[in-house]
Amino acid sequence: MSEIKKKKKIICIGAGASGLFFALNCADENNEVILIDSNSKVGRKMYISGKGRCNITNDCDVKEFIQNVIRNPKFLYSAINRFKPSDTIEFFNSHGCALKTERGKRVFPVSDKAADIIDCLFFEGKRRGVKYLFEKKIDEVYRKDDKFYVKGNAFEYEANKLVIATGGLSYPSTGSTGDGYRFAQNFGHQIVETKSALCPLKIKEKINPEMLKLTLKNVELKAESGNFKKSIFGDLEFLNNAITGPIALSMSSLINRLDEVKLSLDLKPALDENKLDERLLRDIAKNPNKDVRYLLKALLPGEFIDFFIINSGIDPDMILNSLSRDNRLKIVHELKNFKLTYLDLEDISKGIVTSGGVDVSQIDPKTMESKLIKDLYFIGEVLDVDALTGGFNLQIALSTGYACAMAIRVE
Ligand SMILES: Cc1cc2nc3c(=O)[nH]c(=O)nc-3n(C[C@H](O)[C@H](O)[C@H](O)COP(=O)(O)OP(=O)(O)OC[C@H]3O[C@@H](n4cnc5c(N)ncnc54)[C@H](O)[C@@H]3O)c2cc1C
Repeated sequence: MSEIKKKKKIICIGAGASGLFFALNCADENNEVILIDSNSKVGRKMYISGKGRCNITNDCDVKEFIQNVIRNPKFLYSAINRFKPSDTIEFFNSHGCALKTERGKRVFPVSDKAADIIDCLFFEGKRRGVKYLFEKKIDEVYRKDDKFYVKGNAFEYEANKLVIATGGLSYPSTGSTGDGYRFAQNFGHQIVETKSALCPLKIKEKINPEMLKLTLKNVELKAESGNFKKSIFGDLEFLNNAITGPIALSMSSLINRLDEVKLSLDLKPALDENKLDERLLRDIAKNPNKDVRYLLKALLPGEFIDFFIINSGIDPDMILNSLSRDNRLKIVHELKNFKLTYLDLEDISKGIVTSGGVDVSQIDPKTMESKLIKDLYFIGEVLDVDALTGGFNLQIALSTGYACAMAIRVE
């Protein structure tokens, strides 16, 4: 007589990208999956991702993907290989949410609506039998006699397995307030210090109001700290007390654990110092009676000129035909090495992702199961993994959720 398999009860805390994808892939006739969230809806963070368009993945191969991971790329290798960006594209395209690929291989829903990605995950989970419990904030988790218990205000549930998908610390209004770190610590896990990542960089220099709408296009942001040296090419934007935009956000993830970081900008990366000097000489020859401010107008956006003059110490009133070689070379030098005084990372609540989290050396990279506590799993941003912008972070959430689901299903 064949043995009747008892249905396992699995609770997943957190209905963000990782929890939703875990749940829909795990729920079957042998696994009852209960997905619990403190919010009244699923996927609150995904809703604001990609400026409301949700950059769900990056259409690249595994090698390129791993190159874009900042923390613990090796840990992610197995999960990303098992559920690749191409699998994500195939999943959404075949479940009624068509995707498109844009610049930088960034993948978005054709509708440009994050809500379509969330609905796709939510309704597919429903169809496969996932039970959703909303507005249930879990305050405490514990284990007794091989069972897990999750407790909130006036409720308690038990399960055979527990999946923690509570996200990081950024944008806490979306529900991710770092509870997962506390739960992990209660089970004996180490938490790697959390830091803001993909966040603005605070600088000392005063930003002029007219710069708030400016995008400095095709510039190079350079950072140095001890042996660390990195430059990133692209667009830069400004906030009241900080630099932001793609290159500043990416740089934040690279420097968030470094001290005494020196920042500078190459405002003319297409020209080396000699070529830039030749260009200046030509401009000066054409307009000998104009001043340095006039010269700069041909080189920099208008909104940036006062800021450049104040912070480079260059005299804007010098007449070009009397400009000394030293003064001309100083202009060249400042255009290529314009210093910004780095103060700090923007607060973690304003970072796009959290760097740090549950120490991955205590997690099985194939299954996402804790190496310390059997039947306990961690997926998504609660882990000490993060990547650059471009759809990589959501793919990490999906791939770790998938790895966990498959591990539970084959048991
Ligand atoms: C503004 C912004 C834009 C972004 N854009 C992109 C993008 O375009 N592409 C990309 O790849 N990444 C993007 N990201 C990053 C990406 O959204 C996250 O990395 C991803 O959502 C993490 O998924 P997660 O499931 O691990 O956590 P989350 O999505 O944060 O989900 C965690 C869930 O757990 C719930 N929860 C937490 N604690 C409890 C508790 N105690 N009880 C009950 N429920 C709880 C929360 O309510 C939440 O719903 C963006 C992030 C931000 C902030």
